Amino acid sequence: MSLQFTLGKPEGPAPVSETHDVIVIGSGPAGYTAALYTSRAHLDTLVIAGEAVGGQVATTWEVDNYPGFPEGLTGPELVERLQKHSERFGARLEMDQVTNVDLSQHPFRLVGYARTYFARALIVAVGASPRKLDVPGERRLTGRGVSYCGTCDGWFFQDKQVAVIGGGDSALEEALFLTRFASKVTIIHRRDQLRAGPALQSRVERNGKIGYLWNTVVEEILGEKTVQSLCLRHVNTGEITEFPVDGVFVFIGHIPNTDIFQGQLDTDELGYIKTDQHRRTSVAGVWVAGEAGDPHYRQVITSAGMGAMAAIEAQRWLDSLGD
Ligand code: NAP
Repeated sequence: MSLQFTLGKPEGPAPVSETHDVIVIGSGPAGYTAALYTSRAHLDTLVIAGEAVGGQVATTWEVDNYPGFPEGLTGPELVERLQKHSERFGARLEMDQVTNVDLSQHPFRLVGYARTYFARALIVAVGASPRKLDVPGERRLTGRGVSYCGTCDGWFFQDKQVAVIGGGDSALEEALFLTRFASKVTIIHRRDQLRAGPALQSRVERNGKIGYLWNTVVEEILGEKTVQSLCLRHVNTGEITEFPVDGVFVFIGHIPNTDIFQGQLDTDELGYIKTDQHRRTSVAGVWVAGEAGDPHYRQVITSAGMGAMAAIEAQRWLDSLGD
């Protein structure tokens, strides 16, 4: 399972903590990089971890395109290094999840399960979550054969047959990873052309355990206690077939985790926070870094870069306030 924690709702009002120079919401590469920069600038910096500690990269088996690590490293290893690096300069990590924000007052007010926080400057690095197929059986069988993370759940499928849904880089990368465990991996894609880049495509082609079903969509996920099969529809012919599998891994894109900012920060029609070239949002004193404001690049290095940009801007803005 992915790195997640759940905090129960406290009884009574959440205790109030002091005002911080900078609060970073989110503990992925964008959040930790922002915190590294602001704490190194001697700003009192708090990182509120969020539900998925370490962000999406913490569920990635292999990161081999982060500059400076020629041998590659695992996602959890990278997150641990980023956390330690920011803590070296004084940033502090709080294991809480922000459920409500009020950006109409300054300092900004953030309500978490554990306490209420106040921030003079806010960096939003809340990331994105996997998109769901939204078909019957998906929700009921999540954790019982339906998964959104090969790194987390692949081990449970030793010598089993699994399906991977999607035709992007994530789907192919995860399909390759799943061949460590599964006897057969079938990539099911709604078109007859992949979105994934050529390097990944040729690695998949060379892997004898991976096959494709083209022009095919999932209509339903079937199984009593665990996944047993998929009901598939061919998009050209309309033909319906039942395809036996022990697991299904869904990689069909992402949705930004920006619900708590609706009505407070300008977002686009998909929920991504609107930003200018300096990572500024529609509220002065609030910046966005990483995937919550980036549907386009979605790389660890670009998220980290945006974290640094947001932090530098926050530092300059706080300096300009002069108090
Ligand atoms: P993506 O590129 O948006 O691909 C999503 C895939 O899911 C597409 O093939 C899409 O089909 C399919 N899809 C979307 N909605 C669907 C639905 N409702 N039912 C069935 N299929 C559906 O997402 P991603 O693969 O997660 O990648 C996101 C970004 O991260 C990309 O920029 C990618 O390059 C990057 N990334 C990079 C690496 C790497 O560099 N190693 C690894 C992972 C991700 P269509 O093709 O028909 O639209």
